[in-house]
Amino acid sequence: MHMKTDRSRLMKVINSRCRIEKNGTFSLKNHETDWSNMPELEDLSNKKLKKRARNILSDNLKQLSEAQELLYASNKHSLLLIFQAMDAAGKDGTIKHVMSGINPQGCEVFSFKKPSALELDHTFLWRYTMRTPERGRIGIFNRSYYEDVLVVKVNPELLTKVTDNQSITTDFWQGRYEDINNLEKHLTRNDTIVLKFFLNVSKEEQRNRFLERLNDPDKHWKFSTSDLSERAKWDKYMDAFEDAINATSSSWAPWYVIPADHKWIMRSLISTIVTDKILALKPRPPEVTPAKKDLIAKALRQFVNE
Ligand code: ATP
Ligand code: MG
Repeated sequence: MHMKTDRSRLMKVINSRCRIEKNGTFSLKNHETDWSNMPELEDLSNKKLKKRARNILSDNLKQLSEAQELLYASNKHSLLLIFQAMDAAGKDGTIKHVMSGINPQGCEVFSFKKPSALELDHTFLWRYTMRTPERGRIGIFNRSYYEDVLVVKVNPELLTKVTDNQSITTDFWQGRYEDINNLEKHLTRNDTIVLKFFLNVSKEEQRNRFLERLNDPDKHWKFSTSDLSERAKWDKYMDAFEDAINATSSSWAPWYVIPADHKWIMRSLISTIVTDKILALKPRPPEVTPAKKDLIAKALRQFVNE
């Protein structure tokens, strides 16, 4: 009971502060990267912040695990979780923590990197559509087709293969947003719940995390050359995120702009949303047909008498 009230209270705040479902209404400047500044959650912004967030996460994980079992058994809906962010915003850690309690059989994570030559020979959505989750499953996209309107928009030279002589105009990006909206409409029409998370980290906090990585030899593997070059294009990325979120926020596939400067808070918010969405489906195990009931009665008799 307590958990439920907590979650519905939190969902109200999330829906009013983080959820974007209307085309053209999003502006980054209205979104905090630091959740503790949010007036609605003043009670979280004390020393117990991290502990509180951890508790919310662990409560959710229990419920999430049960909800996932039912999602799997009912074999009707699937969930597609999309994670987009600047480097070091914490995609990997969030995915790891939020999914830690769930049955690996019902969950698949795909990390999308630079497309291969084969992938570039297809339309930009091809490699993603092949990996959308089956019924009953949770699919996670660690980066997604949104890269094709983010990194690619910031670095248009990546498009040389795709466009040949075609020039890259506003219409070109508009076309991609439209394709994305249509794909997401198609998915939701076919029982896939699409949830999109933008982990909104500040430039300062990214610097802190890069510094931490550079100062710790165990974390050096996490640092790549592109981290430097892409950070230098921060403002262009922010514009690209703003445009993309504006053009692809829809009632059927809303964006959640999640403050990411505090990792534990970000994780607790995302686990709250995912848990809430699965429970809202009210997944139930498949109906037992009369024939199946007969079979069960027969099997019971047989085993009891064995
Ligand atoms: P980490 O947090 O471990 O750094 P990551 O998701 O950044 O994880 P990397 O291997 O560092 O993984 O980077 C993957 C790179 O692939 C990113 O720079 C991303 O922008 C790039 N990428 C992903 N999709 C596309 C795409 N469609 N076109 C071009 N580049 C892409
Ligand atoms: Mg990286």
